[in-house]
Amino acid sequence: MRVLVVGGGGREHAIVDALVRGGAEVLAAMANQNPGIRRLANEVLLGDVNAVDRIVAWAQDQSAELAVIGPEAPLEKGIVDALEARGIPTVGPTKVAAQLETNKEFTRDLMKTFGIPGLPSYWAFDSYAPFSEFVLDSNFEFVIKPLGLTGGKGVQVWGDHFSSKEGALAYGREILEKKIGGQARFLVEEKLVGEEFSLQALCDGKRLVPCPLVQDHKRAYEGDRGPNTGGMGSYSDADHLLPFVSRLDYDQALDTMRRTVEAMNERGTPFKGVLYGGFMATRDGPKLLEYNVRFADPEAMNILPILEDNFVDLCMSVARGGLPLRAHFAKMATVCKYVVPPGYGTHPKAGEQLKVDEESIRRTGAKLYYAAVDEKDGRILTTTSRALAVVGIAERLESAEAMSEEALASVGGSFYARRDIGKPEVIQRKTEKMRKIRGAP
Ligand code: AMP
Repeated sequence: MRVLVVGGGGREHAIVDALVRGGAEVLAAMANQNPGIRRLANEVLLGDVNAVDRIVAWAQDQSAELAVIGPEAPLEKGIVDALEARGIPTVGPTKVAAQLETNKEFTRDLMKTFGIPGLPSYWAFDSYAPFSEFVLDSNFEFVIKPLGLTGGKGVQVWGDHFSSKEGALAYGREILEKKIGGQARFLVEEKLVGEEFSLQALCDGKRLVPCPLVQDHKRAYEGDRGPNTGGMGSYSDADHLLPFVSRLDYDQALDTMRRTVEAMNERGTPFKGVLYGGFMATRDGPKLLEYNVRFADPEAMNILPILEDNFVDLCMSVARGGLPLRAHFAKMATVCKYVVPPGYGTHPKAGEQLKVDEESIRRTGAKLYYAAVDEKDGRILTTTSRALAVVGIAERLESAEAMSEEALASVGGSFYARRDIGKPEVIQRKTEKMRKIRGAP
């Protein structure tokens, strides 16, 4: 089957890899020369992934029979509507259904209207005076969120990004003036305290089929410090839960997502594609931080390599309807670490050469996924985004983490990676923190 894949990052390399394992011939549309995708693909279209008309025309020329959309931006542009209008079934939501990610206020209002659990208190502002009144009257910590897409970098949290009412006021004013996230309007939410986890699920418009839980690390530096990034790495455990997420938390998070899918149906805008719930486990149960309407990056790289079912078949049943009751994943732990250019998070240095000893990485048992690098004259060069990821896969988290480190040792050149991701003592600290938050002795 000929499958169009849009996007050239680590997530898309993992998607392409899983599709090829399932017998697909891949047609890859991407902005950069991702060497991993290029080698696996039958055909490549280089260029802007938001150029919907160009990509759709190419997909038709190439007789694509199915499409999988990696990043959010082309979803916001309506690429799914356009592909399906040409008869190409697609894994991804329509432009209206994509609002679950592209408009944070849409999601909060949907949760409120339909009484969906997991909703924090929130307020919306589109002018400075009422916001300033709210801030001056408030006696609790909150977060400030632009409404639209900001590449995961628009949310500011009290205590992390600002720590006074003046700081909050300044950021609110900046969003209004610069229309950060696309509009002169933003949300304020109560600050949630706990541990974050990611639940990704396949959805055919009706049925939601969950994947193993994953924890991402959005902050640039070790110990979860520094600026927010697209994600520095992530891990998952062999039992498909996380040590600090109870079975009850998991069931409640899944319920929030199932009820969201039902609500989308009821309002006549069914959701199909991959739904990602970013949750905070709190003392009052899991609360939804945000939805993404596609696989997350890095979290796709934790779950796709351990998928035991045929991914092409699963994608077809997402696009056409008729998903099976469940998907099967190997009972393996995974640890993904991103290699990023020096200075990533503030002043990333593009054009640095990375020396990747692929054969040595393969020998460790780890997976290697290329991301936003460019291959020029056989050399792998960094751009300003994340460069490549290694994923250790083993029966125990400790071994998966050790494997990811062994793989990193085979990457040369000047780069940065968060080495703390998936380390046993770090996870132990998170588990202890959650025990305290829950009030356990
Ligand atoms: P979002 O883009 O909504 O996922 O937000 C990005 C990051 O901001 C999340 O991963 C959290 O770390 C943080 N965040 C978002 N909303 C809240 C909240 N209500 N309370 C605390 N932290 C939050």
